[in-house]
Amino acid sequence: ALAVSLRGVTKTYDNGVMALGPLDLAVCKGEFISLLGPSGCGKSTALRIIAGLSAPSSGTVRVARHEGEVQPGHGIGFVFQEPTLMPWTSVRENVRLPLKLGGVAKAQGRARADEALASVGLTDFADAYPRELSGGMKMRVSLARALVTDPDILLMDEPFAALDEITRFRLNNDLLALWRALGKTVIFVTHSVFESVYLSQRVVVMTARPGRIQADLRIETVEPRG
Ligand code: ADP
Ligand code: ADP
Repeated sequence: ALAVSLRGVTKTYDNGVMALGPLDLAVCKGEFISLLGPSGCGKSTALRIIAGLSAPSSGTVRVARHEGEVQPGHGIGFVFQEPTLMPWTSVRENVRLPLKLGGVAKAQGRARADEALASVGLTDFADAYPRELSGGMKMRVSLARALVTDPDILLMDEPFAALDEITRFRLNNDLLALWRALGKTVIFVTHSVFESVYLSQRVVVMTARPGRIQADLRIETVEPRG
């Protein structure tokens, strides 16, 4: 079954920049794919289009969602390179925010936020403030916030690019463990060939702008992934 399907998707911005396409991409449910390509080739644009944050100029976008889920974007979690946490409120409240905006009652929202924080190893930091956390921990909070609504699809836009190598490697391993445990579809944008091959089952390489698919590689591993 398909989680995401793009057919003939193009994007030309108002300033005339042709950012994307035509792009054809089908991602199966539960797949972990990486999007790799030169800076400015339209990777972020593609993610924003999949998330419904940006409209394509042409083509069709299909995103499979839970039965009965109607709100656009509801079945999708988005992790940006910048964690963008609200500084004046606790880690728990930052993670609870999407549920609060979705009208989930406070007690239930806090319980689910704590579960999401546990899944990224931050149980002990629920009451801390973002300024007290390291870069890697802020990224974990951002990941917990994306997971708190239990989305089917997780879109990640160069999430670990600003982190030091050791922190990045730990996050890679924890993300893989989470993916195995949760069975979500992940589309992961990165500049790192190592990261793309280490993390994903499939590496999609894009051309320079306007981004099209240059190669679509299946990554075979010796270690079991599933
Ligand atoms: P990538 O994520 O691969 O670096 P982007 O999707 O961010 O690429 O950008 C693709 C191209 O579109 C770039 O040339 C960028 O400057 C341009 N672009 C991105 N967003 C906008 C925008 N909102 N308005 C105009 N041009 C944009
Ligand atoms: P990334 O490569 O990580 O996507 P960018 O620097 O390309 O980051 O884009 C950051 C933000 O700036 C995005 O929201 C994008 O839409 C916007 N942006 C990028 N290029 C342009 C541009 N030429 N004109 C207007 N907005 C842009």
